[in-house]
Amino acid sequence: HVRVRFCPSPTGNPHVGLVRTALFNWAFARHHGGTLVLRIEDTDAARDSEESYEQLLDSLRWLGLDWDEGPAPYGTGTGTGSAAEPVGPHAPYRQSQRMDIYRDVAEKLRQGGHAYRCFCTAEELEARREAARKAGRPSGYDGQCRDLSADRIAAYEAEGRTSIVRFRMPDEAITFTDLVRGELTFAPENVTDYGIVRANGAPLYTLVNPVDDALMEITHVLRGEDLLSSTPRQIALYRALADIGVGKGETPAFGHLPYVMGEGNKKLSKRDPESSLNLYRERGFLPQGLLNYLSLLGWSLSEDRDIFSLDELVAAFDIGDVNANPARFDLKKCEAINAAHLRELSVADFTAACAPWLKAPYAPWAEEDFDQAAFEELAPLAQTRLTVLADITQNVDFLFLPEPVADEASWQKAMKPGAEDVLRSIHSRLAELDGDSWRADPLKEAVLAAGEAHGLKLGKAQAPLRVAVTGRTVGLPLFESLEVLGRERTLLRVDSALA
Ligand code: GLU
Repeated sequence: HVRVRFCPSPTGNPHVGLVRTALFNWAFARHHGGTLVLRIEDTDAARDSEESYEQLLDSLRWLGLDWDEGPAPYGTGTGTGSAAEPVGPHAPYRQSQRMDIYRDVAEKLRQGGHAYRCFCTAEELEARREAARKAGRPSGYDGQCRDLSADRIAAYEAEGRTSIVRFRMPDEAITFTDLVRGELTFAPENVTDYGIVRANGAPLYTLVNPVDDALMEITHVLRGEDLLSSTPRQIALYRALADIGVGKGETPAFGHLPYVMGEGNKKLSKRDPESSLNLYRERGFLPQGLLNYLSLLGWSLSEDRDIFSLDELVAAFDIGDVNANPARFDLKKCEAINAAHLRELSVADFTAACAPWLKAPYAPWAEEDFDQAAFEELAPLAQTRLTVLADITQNVDFLFLPEPVADEASWQKAMKPGAEDVLRSIHSRLAELDGDSWRADPLKEAVLAAGEAHGLKLGKAQAPLRVAVTGRTVGLPLFESLEVLGRERTLLRVDSALA
C-alpha cells in the first residue's frame, strides 16, 4: 500500500514549488489508490506561525489537494486550527506536538550506539573545517567526539561545555535508486556524522523528518532536489531506526523533483512574486488550471497535449516519467493554460467563479448598481477572452459605474484628430435606432455606415465609440456591450464625450 506525505513547514505564504511537490505526492497517491499524509513540520517556533498553518490548510483545500491523514480533516466545515481533531492512526500530525517521541528516539539511538554526544564548539569545528579545506581534504565532521571516554565527557562537562547529539554515519558508501534520477552513490567521506539534537535539546529536521516517515510508514518520499544531499543521511538513519525497533524497519523509496527555474535561469525563489500561491488566487486562476500548469514542471502527460484535467493527470501520473532536468517556470504559459480551463467551464460555472471579482474590494462600483442579469448577458463573451478571472472586473465595469472609467491614456489614443467628427456621425446614426432595434447587428451596421462616410473601416470608426462608452481601448465585443448597456446610457455617454 502506497503511503506518501506532504510535510510543509508553516513559514509563510505557500509558494508554487511547494504546491508542485504537494501535487506530485497527491497525484502519486491517487494514481496508486494510496494514502496521502499531511504532516506539519512546525518545529521551528521562531519561524512557524499559526496563521501560516491555517493558510496552508486553506490553500490545499482551495487547490482541491485532499489529504487522507493529517492534523485536521480535509473537508471544510469541520474547523481548522488547534481546535480541529486530527484524522488518521498516527496522530498527532504536527511535529510541535510530537517532541516527546523525538527525545525518546534520540535517546534510544544514543544507547544503541548510533548517535553520540558531541562537545565540539562552533569555533573548533570551523577551525578544523578550514584546515581540512586548506589541505584539500573533505571538510565534513571529522569524528572527533565519536568515541569519547567517560573521563573525557566528565572533563568536558566540568568545563561547562554543552553538547549536541550527533548521528554516527556508517563508514561505507550509501547507494540508492532515486525514482527520478536512477542509481546514486554517496561516498562516506562526503556524508559525515551530523547533528540530530541541538544543545538546548531541540530535535532537528534531520531527525524528526525520517523518524516520522518511519513511524507513519511512509513508502515513497517525493520532494525537491534541494533535499537530495540529506537523503543518504536519512537512509542511514532509517537503518539505525530499524535496528532500535522504531517503525516497521523499511526504508522508503526516494524521488527528487527537479528545480524550478525563474527569470535569468535562477532558481525560482520565495521572493519572486510569481512564486506566491496567493497571487494566483487573487488574480483568479482556477485551481485546475494552475495545477495543470504546475504538473508540467518536470512531467508531461504526452508530447502533444499540455491541457488536461486532474482526473487525466491522476490516471497518467508516473513518477518514473518525471524529468530530472530543471524545469522553467513560464508565467505566460501558465496563463494560457488557465485560459483554456476557463473555456471549459459551463457558462453557469464560469459566472459563479467570477463572483468574488464582482464585489468589493475588487469591484469599483457601488454594490446596488450591480446587475446580475446584465452581467450574465456578457459573461459568455468574457469567458472566451479572459486568461484570469480577476480581469472580469475591468471588462464589465462600464455596465455598473455611473460613468466610464477615466483612463487618460486610452482617451488620448482613441480621440485622435477627426475622431470627434466620426463620433458625432456615429451618435446621429445610433440615435436613429429605437429601443427595439438596439441590437448588436443594427448597431454594427450603424457604426459601419458612419465610418464609411468618413472613409474609415469598422475598427477605426469604433475606437472613439468604445472609449466614449467604456473608457477603455480594449474590451469585450463592442456591439454586444452596447446592447446590454442600453440605448439611453450609450447615447448619454457619447454626448458627454462630445461635450
Ligand atoms: N519540511 C521539509 C521542507 O519543507 C520537508 C522535507 C522533506 O520532504 O523531507 O523542506
